[in-house]
Parts: sequence; structure tokens; C-alpha cells
Amino acid sequence: MKKTIFSAMRPTGKLHLGHLVGALQNWIDLQDKYNCIFGIVDWHALMGEYAQSKEIQENMLDMAMDWMACGINPEKTILFVQSHVPEHLELNMILSCITPLGWLERNPTYKEQLREITTRDLQTYAFLGYPVLQAADILLYKAQAVPIGEDQLPHLELAREIARRFNHLYKTNLFLDCEPILTPTPRLLGVDGRKMSKSYQNAINLSDSEEEIRKKAQSMFTDPRRIKMADPGHPEECNVYSYYKIFAPDLKEDVYTWCTKAQKGCTECKKILSEQLMKRLKPIQEKRASLVKHKNRIWDILEDGRQKAQKIARKTIEEVKEVVFK
Ligand code: SF4
Repeated sequence: MKKTIFSAMRPTGKLHLGHLVGALQNWIDLQDKYNCIFGIVDWHALMGEYAQSKEIQENMLDMAMDWMACGINPEKTILFVQSHVPEHLELNMILSCITPLGWLERNPTYKEQLREITTRDLQTYAFLGYPVLQAADILLYKAQAVPIGEDQLPHLELAREIARRFNHLYKTNLFLDCEPILTPTPRLLGVDGRKMSKSYQNAINLSDSEEEIRKKAQSMFTDPRRIKMADPGHPEECNVYSYYKIFAPDLKEDVYTWCTKAQKGCTECKKILSEQLMKRLKPIQEKRASLVKHKNRIWDILEDGRQKAQKIARKTIEEVKEVVFK
């Protein structure tokens, strides 16, 4: 029996390279080994983007197409929209009742986001409860594992604690323990050296044109100690080099040599990087362009995913209600 895994993304805008190497590539590799359920979590998007709610609907379709263009296969994987399966909110309500407020207030990711993100209003009741809805997403499908990045570990731990508390309170073993599957690729930084994020406007998007990629690559921070071209560089301290390691590993030794021996300047090094990024993105962009022509087919795929997801979700909710109320 294959294990079930659940993962999700918020449809808040264009996908970028950080999504590709931090999540999608991992998901694609997991499709054959696990029963995969991947959600486009629009309720989560609304929590932070309630003022731009109209864009969420459009972003959902874009996200489904981006996933499929990268290699998510709806014949192997359940791909659905969270709000199309109302059981997520039903379980969220029940889990909210048993989750102590202190667990949410102490959550380090919550505190960090309140501090760092100033472009959106996160001072809401719903945003504090974000991890409870996340727990509901996972537990609804009794996922045994969740592919996530390291920064999401505190949320998963909270989901595990909520599951344990539920099992303990209602003397059941309904919810299984859920393990993280950490993405093997190191976290990709944005062009300004901070975490790559739409909120920081430092991302290279999967849909960026050649010109946009070239410009963004040229704006990347490099080794601060390499002032002139004749200065030998320190590639391990340069964000550009970290991109080579991920997107053009065959070139990383050459880059190391030309940088440390001052054989090439940073402008040329970044130009070569942008060509390598384009090489990686071109097939994705071509597949995406063919999917755009068949948008109705994408909605059909999401509807098929909804039916499959809801069948599992309904059964779990019935079991939960049996345990809680009877
Ligand atoms: Fe970075 Fe390349 Fe410049 Fe070296 S040559 S500092 S790796 S951009």
C-alpha cells in the first residue's frame, strides 16, 4: 500500500523558481512513490490577501497550469481547490475548538510573518488560526507525510500536536502521526539575497521572459569582497554561485575557477547564468503555452480532483463526528 501525502500552495500570484526547487520538483519526484493529494489552498490565500480577493480565482487556474507545465500529472495525483471541498472548513471548526490559543500565539512563523510582512494586513483572527486550517487540510486526508520546506516545520509540528490532542481528548486513534518529507534542495534566495518571495518582489518567475530573467540576474547580489574584475572572488559567498549549483551543476566547477582566479567578471557570469535559467524554463513555458489554449480542460481536471478528494474528506468528517458527538 502506498502512503498518502498532502501538500498545498496558496494561489497568491505567479509561481517562481523558489516554488520550483523548493516544492514542485519534490512533488513531481514523489508522484510515483505515494498517493499524492495536492491542494490549491484558496482559503489560506484569502487570509492574507482578502483585499485582493478577485485575483485569487484567476490565480487558481494559473497555478494548476503551472503545476502541470512543471510535471504534476493529474492522472497520478489528486489536484484540487480547497474551497471546492467544504469539509476543510468543517474540520477546521472542530479542530479550532480544541486548539489552545497559546499554541498559536507562540508559533514562530506567525511572529516572523507579522514582523516581516508589511504589505498585507495579517492582524486578523483568521491569520492567527492559519495553522489550524493547515492541520485540517492534512488530517482530512489522513496524510502520513507532508513534503515541506524547513520553514514550515513549526506548522507541521503544530498539526501533529493538534492531532495528538484530538486523539487523546476523544480516546481514539483516528488521526495518524504525520512525518515531514524535507525537500532535498537548499532554500533558494531571491535576487536581493533574502528569502525568495512575491512579498519581497525579489523573485524570478517561471513565466518571466528572457529579457526579464537577464535583468533580474544582472541585479543579483554577488560577493561583496569582489570590487573590481581583477579581484579574486569567493563563490561560496555569492548568491549567483548558489544558483549555478542548483540550475547548472555541470558548470559549477568552471564558475568556481573563473571566479576565484578572476578570469571572468560578474556581469558575464550572470549573463551565462540567465542563459542557463532560460534553458531550464523554456520547456515549462512551452508546455504552459499549450495548456492555456485549453482552460476548460483544466477546470475539468480540478473538478475530477474535487470529486476524488471529497470522497476521502467526507468519510473522515463522518468518522470525526462519530467520535466527537456520539
Ligand atoms: Fe559571483 Fe560569478 Fe561574480 Fe564569482 S564571478 S562573485 S560567482 S557573480
